[in-house]
Amino acid sequence: MILLDGAKVAHERNLMLKEMIEKDILKYKRAPSLSIILVGDNPASQSYVKGKGKACDLVGITHKLYNLKEDIKESELSTLIEELNHDDNVDGILLQLPISKHLNESKLIDLISKDKDADGFHVVNQGYLYQKKPTICPATPKGIMTLLKSYDINVSGMDAVVIGRSNIVGFPIARLLMDAGATITVCHRQTKDLAFHTRTADLLIVSAGRAELVTQDMVKPGAIVVDVGVNRVDGKLVGDVFFQGVSQVASYLSPVPKGVGPMTINALMENTYELYLKHVQN
Ligand code: NAD
Repeated sequence: MILLDGAKVAHERNLMLKEMIEKDILKYKRAPSLSIILVGDNPASQSYVKGKGKACDLVGITHKLYNLKEDIKESELSTLIEELNHDDNVDGILLQLPISKHLNESKLIDLISKDKDADGFHVVNQGYLYQKKPTICPATPKGIMTLLKSYDINVSGMDAVVIGRSNIVGFPIARLLMDAGATITVCHRQTKDLAFHTRTADLLIVSAGRAELVTQDMVKPGAIVVDVGVNRVDGKLVGDVFFQGVSQVASYLSPVPKGVGPMTINALMENTYELYLKHVQN
């Protein structure tokens, strides 16, 4: 089994990005910048935001964290987003999810300017993605496609099974894989016989948020398995794939942690850089 080493690939790409940004700072007289909005003090979100800040420091993206109180009014958050939308020194805006239940997540995401949508979640950017037009791609699916490419995995003609249909992972990765020539099955909570589908997969992408949902008997020998899930079990991070068992049958497998997570952050850095170039070249 070959490990899909997201940490290594992401680090190499971040170093290449750092070089490009160094040159562009001389040319355009300013660094790219990312504003991160964190609502509340959820420990997992705090740790993700810290990881994103560290990556920004490495590649040379300036970043500012807005840590807002859990019970912030929607109108206050909207005002902050509008201010950042109008600030010419801000290239990317990221609203760390999940946010408090009293806030309208989808409305706030769509309030972020589509030209500053570092996560690629804005309805217009997702519309471009589904029409196969150039756009800012959601970070996790973009990171997964980059990881597969880095290992020279060509998905064209493969039977791919995606577990999960969320707007941020399952649905967009299904679209990207279809565009790349794979035949797609999307499984979700209502799927009658999950194992029946997963056993047909040449490529299995698992994004359910259920610790060790996929076991060895559910995977076709030689399949490529990408584990997106991040679950905390007894204080430890565990994926949606039972690593020890599935590593016995898969040809490639991404670990948790150090698999898709760092690739997502790298994709976020690349998205912010892309938005920056659009702003400074206009
Ligand atoms: P979500 O809760 O929005 O969606 C989960 C999907 O899985 C749903 O479509 C649901 O129908 C499906 N599902 C749940 N249980 C299932 C089951 N038993 N059988 C079949 N389908 C099932 O979650 P999400 O935001 O897409 O995230 C999924 C997981 O990926 C989470 O663990 C999250 O933390 C992780 N994640 C990781 C990264 C990363 O960078 N590594 C990024 C985003 C999300």
